[in-house]
Amino acid sequence: MIVIMKVHALAKEIADVISRIESDGYKAHLSEGEHQTIIGVVGESPTPLREENYSAMAGVEKVVRVSAPYKLASRAFHPMDTLVPLNGSHLGSKKVLVIAGPCSVESRESIIEIACMVKEAGATALRGGAFKPRTSPYSFQGHGEKGLQWLAEARERTGLPIVTEVMEPGLVPMVAQYADVLQIGARNTQNYALLNAVGESQHPVLLKRGISGTIEELLMSAEYILSHGNTRVMLCERGIRTYEKATRNTFDLNAIPVLKNLTHLPVIADPSHGTGLSEYVTSVSRAGVAAGADGVIVEVHQNPAQALSDGRQSLNPKQFEVMMKQIQRVAEAVDRSA
Ligand code: PEP
Ligand code: MN
Repeated sequence: MIVIMKVHALAKEIADVISRIESDGYKAHLSEGEHQTIIGVVGESPTPLREENYSAMAGVEKVVRVSAPYKLASRAFHPMDTLVPLNGSHLGSKKVLVIAGPCSVESRESIIEIACMVKEAGATALRGGAFKPRTSPYSFQGHGEKGLQWLAEARERTGLPIVTEVMEPGLVPMVAQYADVLQIGARNTQNYALLNAVGESQHPVLLKRGISGTIEELLMSAEYILSHGNTRVMLCERGIRTYEKATRNTFDLNAIPVLKNLTHLPVIADPSHGTGLSEYVTSVSRAGVAAGADGVIVEVHQNPAQALSDGRQSLNPKQFEVMMKQIQRVAEAVDRSA
């Protein structure tokens, strides 16, 4: 249930509604708009919520039942787009932001070099994994904390904030010391201990859709993070597993407008994991922006044939420059900028 307060409701009226929610045994989450406050009622209690009692309270405009299982992630709770700050811009604003870099951080020199290249081409943030979730235990697992230190050096050189994956709840404080945005990978979207830990950290989070996850499951995972009061959550469509074998995953273009409709959180397209093949990455990035994505996360490598992971889907710097120019034009065509 959500309680929509009247425009300019008094602070005392808002406080009374919160006290009533708490005395009924629920938790109150506030969404404060410019003029209006919306109070989300979440949690479980043996006391039934009586809509009519809340409607009758001073300062309450109306009470709405939210039928979706996610509450704080829903548009009903927060009608305006949530803006997540990134490098002086905001994800979720008119400007489409691009996060670019290699799949894995491979060496100090290579991450600094690629950071300079993607910055030059117009990227807003640098991506790169230091802890890699690999299907095979024999594949390159990442350089760990050393990789994070190299990322921090690349940030110092370029000013680009860092987006990097965290795989274990116990490593959240350490990764958060280096990262500007914590990435939750597709294999961990339903790792609830990890979601609780990044929620507690209050650090911005890029949450990927699960490999076979539904849109509702993605929003429920976001709800875990939001329920800890961490509102800086970005959702990422990165393709799902289907019967189709021509590409690594099937990029679900529908998910972008569907998510923009269901939730206030910014939505990012990942055409690299969405296709798995570099020759399709640029066209799918264009499609993502045309469909309303607030950002694109894309893998770029100086020499994809030599990459330690995901080389087959990585753009080279020249291809990345072309992608940047093309998505700028698509963004303008849909009244955005890039
Ligand atoms: C990645 O971003 O390199 C990655 C491992 O992505 P995903 O979790 O979407 O597979
Ligand atoms: Mn990758």
